[in-house]
Amino acid sequence: LFVTFEGGDGAGKSSILKIICEELRSQGLSVLETREPGGIHIAERIRQVILDKTHTSMDGRTEALLYAAARRQHLVEKVIPALNEGKVVLCDRFIDSSLAYQGHARGLGMEEVYRINKFAIEDRMPDVTLFFNIEPSKGLQRIASNEEREKNRLDLEELDFHEKVYEAYLQLLQQYPERMRSIDADQPMNRVKEAAMTALQPFLSN
Ligand code: C5P
Repeated sequence: LFVTFEGGDGAGKSSILKIICEELRSQGLSVLETREPGGIHIAERIRQVILDKTHTSMDGRTEALLYAAARRQHLVEKVIPALNEGKVVLCDRFIDSSLAYQGHARGLGMEEVYRINKFAIEDRMPDVTLFFNIEPSKGLQRIASNEEREKNRLDLEELDFHEKVYEAYLQLLQQYPERMRSIDADQPMNRVKEAAMTALQPFLSN
């Protein structure tokens, strides 16, 4: 089962991913916890190019293509082998992040970004995607109140950018009702965990 975790900044998806991972393991399931580029050498190298702040002028399409390339390598080298071994794969961000960030918020067009990602991942869409739903202003407040994290995030984008990301995720929820589930992330962690487990249950018992 291929599960992806999505959400805007400060939604808490990375923390909840770890909690869900522990919960599934305690139920005896074999779980791979990963995120792009996932320690895959080629994908790490591509990621370094994307994040290299000395390129002040990286073209938006170049960035989208690099994300898609890193995604493919991580998928074929790590995710697909784990799925073939029968593992539950929990992946922090996947195609929907590109649709929301590059496609909508950066204005490249969700349809166009979907096309290059479709080429990259072929038919390997997630079986289920948990969207951790929190108003962008609240998500950003959470980050600001976390000093450690803020130090690592000097280039935090503006609120209107995050509003666009959020808008895109809401659109994706409408577009992919069969695999996307919205989880209210504006509540205590144990409640978020419960909601996420409830959403996952039908997919786990399939
Ligand atoms: O997963 P995490 O919250 O650490 O993501 C960090 C940042 O990476 C996001 O806030 C976003 O700015 C950026 N990102 C992006 N496009 C993607 C994935 C992530 O711009 N496809």
